[in-house]
Amino acid sequence: MTTYKAAVMTGPGQPLELRDMPAPNLEPGAALLRTLYSEVCGTDVHLHHGRLDVPFPIIPGHVSVGVVEAARGKLADIEGEPIKEGDVVTFLDVHETCNNCYYCLVARQPTRCTKRRVYGISYSANEGLLGGWAEAIWMKPGVKMVRIPKELSPETFIGGGCGLVTALHAVDMTELKLGESVAVLGVGPVGQSIVGFASLSGAGELIAIGAPDDRLSFARRMGATATLSLDVPAEERLAQVRQLTNGRGVDAVIEASGAPQAVKQALDLVRDGGRVVVCGQYTDNGSIEIHPHWQLNRKHIEVKGCWGSRYDHFHRAAALTARYGDRKPWREMVSARFALGDANAALLAVENRTAIKAVITPNPDLVRS
Ligand SMILES: [Zn+2]
Ligand SMILES: [Zn+2]
Repeated sequence: MTTYKAAVMTGPGQPLELRDMPAPNLEPGAALLRTLYSEVCGTDVHLHHGRLDVPFPIIPGHVSVGVVEAARGKLADIEGEPIKEGDVVTFLDVHETCNNCYYCLVARQPTRCTKRRVYGISYSANEGLLGGWAEAIWMKPGVKMVRIPKELSPETFIGGGCGLVTALHAVDMTELKLGESVAVLGVGPVGQSIVGFASLSGAGELIAIGAPDDRLSFARRMGATATLSLDVPAEERLAQVRQLTNGRGVDAVIEASGAPQAVKQALDLVRDGGRVVVCGQYTDNGSIEIHPHWQLNRKHIEVKGCWGSRYDHFHRAAALTARYGDRKPWREMVSARFALGDANAALLAVENRTAIKAVITPNPDLVRS
């Protein structure tokens, strides 16, 4: 029996274990990928801390790039181009969106579909190779694969990783107009890609706020026109943002920090009538007090929460990194590479913020650079 190694997270706080997993029986429409890269992101740290309700044991790794090793039946991308053995692809980690519930059909907000399952998060390892921290990943029938075009290095795509799709979704939701000012709160992988996409969208003043300093410098390379450190007190940051925007505050704020306090600051930094998009509060980090009169009603602002992503974000993220990967340093966000057996160290690197983006390379022999 063919088996593949996988790093399995058995429960909160437990060290990951390497397990031999049986190769899946590929049904028509299914495929098997040999994993080139799978990313390690903040969500994986939250999973390990037991902060998301998931069916342990799981194989983490939601956004990955792999080579198609086997494909059953006719598989094609959305252009109708066949997906064949040897193709390098990534895939939308969200699967089984039902297209049959209120959110899918009436509200048309499929990221809130209750049936959706996510590779590396809400599939159990008992169901098979359904996470990226493994030598192979089982593409169930219907999983949406996106080809990595020749001009796009897989490292550039995985450098942006799941942050790309979240960032793209959040920037879309701000409905940014050319020349508008933007503040981005948080300079982790999501914040960096938000800065990159907002800059490509023609933002005017583009202010990144966060820590540490090396990430602020990186945000400048992504396109930030100004940066503010969290070492500066919140009132002082507000004063500086106002100074950069003729006293008004920014047209749009995107929160991507994970700190509840940042949401409160977002409401202060936005100008009267501006927009705030919150995409950093992926786990319960507690509550904050806001002032509905001064911060919401009187300011006449719009506040939106942004959860999950859809195929269109994924598709455009691959196209955008292919087109602009030489202008925006996504590739350099990959600051640490780990073998499958070092998944624990990879998690620690992300938790301790020693790496902006850590990736796992389960098949180092297949990775050509
Ligand atoms: Zn649904
Ligand atoms: Zn992620």
